[in-house]
Amino acid sequence: MNLILFGPPAAGKGTQAKRLVELRGFVQLSTGDMLRAARASGSELGQRVARIMDEGGLVSDQIVIDLINEQLTARAGAPGFIFDGFPRTIGQAEALDSLLQSRGEQVDLVIRMRVDDERLLTRVTKRFEEQGRADDNPATFSRRLERYYEDTAPLVPLYAERGVLVEVDGMGTVDTVAASIDAALKQSA
Ligand code: AMP
Repeated sequence: MNLILFGPPAAGKGTQAKRLVELRGFVQLSTGDMLRAARASGSELGQRVARIMDEGGLVSDQIVIDLINEQLTARAGAPGFIFDGFPRTIGQAEALDSLLQSRGEQVDLVIRMRVDDERLLTRVTKRFEEQGRADDNPATFSRRLERYYEDTAPLVPLYAERGVLVEVDGMGTVDTVAASIDAALKQSA
């Protein structure tokens, strides 16, 4: 199962991905987590992406595609992959198709978590206070949201045309959203 958890920043993708990892043994591939780990390690890659992340921009397609490719290879044989925060551009979506095709696989399901902007802002303000993630500050967050609408949202019709897109209401409680995701997974099985 190759599942994309799709939605704007702070839609709850990471929370739902972690639940699927625990319950189903899927592997979560979060490019945001990978990039934060690279920064924390002080690697050359981490230093290269730091400024872009702090400004709420998107790092280059090639960087995140390489990270995903590495992990797909390292974790081959997993019962499923959850792509969280990837793909974020048309180029990344095309690269993902090629990577999966070369393994005889495809994107099986895209679950789009719908959350309105006002709710995203409330959530991210709370997360900023609790976790202090620099790019959750209101000014940077609004740039991340802009990138989402400009670069990432155009992927929605692409996956809808393929018939792999399911929309869920991401505004409910963690449990309610989880139930909608479980239903979508059951239907696509
Ligand atoms: P996230 O935790 O997914 O919101 O990602 C945090 C930041 O990492 C983003 O604001 C981008 O700067 C960068 N990033 C994460 N994933 C990607 C991606 N697929 N493409 C480009 N930049 C990314």
